[in-house]
Amino acid sequence: LSRRLNMPKVEDEVGRLAMTFDEMLDRLETSFKKERQFTSDASHELRTPLAVIRALAEETLMGARSEEEFRDTLEDILKETTNMQNMVSQLLLLTRGDEGRYQLEMENIDLKIVIEDVMGEMEAMAGQYGVNLYFQAEKSVVVKGDQTLLTRLFMNLIDNAIKYNTEGGWVKVTLHEAKGFARIIVKDSGIGIPKEDIPHVFDRFYRVDRSRSSDGTGLGLSIVQWIVKIHNGQIYVKSRPGEGTEFEILLPL
Ligand code: ADP
Repeated sequence: LSRRLNMPKVEDEVGRLAMTFDEMLDRLETSFKKERQFTSDASHELRTPLAVIRALAEETLMGARSEEEFRDTLEDILKETTNMQNMVSQLLLLTRGDEGRYQLEMENIDLKIVIEDVMGEMEAMAGQYGVNLYFQAEKSVVVKGDQTLLTRLFMNLIDNAIKYNTEGGWVKVTLHEAKGFARIIVKDSGIGIPKEDIPHVFDRFYRVDRSRSSDGTGLGLSIVQWIVKIHNGQIYVKSRPGEGTEFEILLPL
């Protein structure tokens, strides 16, 4: 791929063709590089929990242990396995998206219902974190979309808004129509994102601070971004450390 035509820059048809060809090669090369990086990151991310599971199992086999210790180890192993399972299904979804293999099922979706359902499902988790959930929508807003993906989109955003929050905090979701778009705001009173990290939060495997959440994968927002893109939408993020974060999503009506 590193071979280039490198024709002298002439403004005739052949010259333009050569330039187009070189640009295509550049783009292909970037895309291959990205793919290699993705595979290498994924392997690395999966190796860590595997090593933990192996060490836990070995340690338990070697030493004589009480039943309680056995149980504790099994619980740790179960937790690591669940995390791995999550990561693998997220990876599969992203890979399918990359390869254009995701079977989109576009239908009329009432976002008010989708968001209400997601918030209902997240209520128990919010309770565990001591976070209050609020949803405000004047009326139904209907878009053409894939129900499974749009549900995933709000799940991931609200899950983060709860996870990266503080006891007694809140998550407010609003839904409106604005200039041919459905406009959804997911706002939280949480810990916020440092300015220098904001440009990277949609990157695959990017996590601001690994100690903030032990069960994160860094893939949630990459999936959100892909879902928004596949629906021809837009997403913006604003955040201030210690004050909270706001995601704005625009989906064409
Ligand atoms: P993760 O699995 O780590 O949550 P995401 O891709 O969903 O991965 O998010 C990437 C990073 O962005 C997270 O690790 C977290 O540090 C930060 N982040 C995402 N949403 C929020 C939020 N609502 N408040 C504060 N930080 C957030």
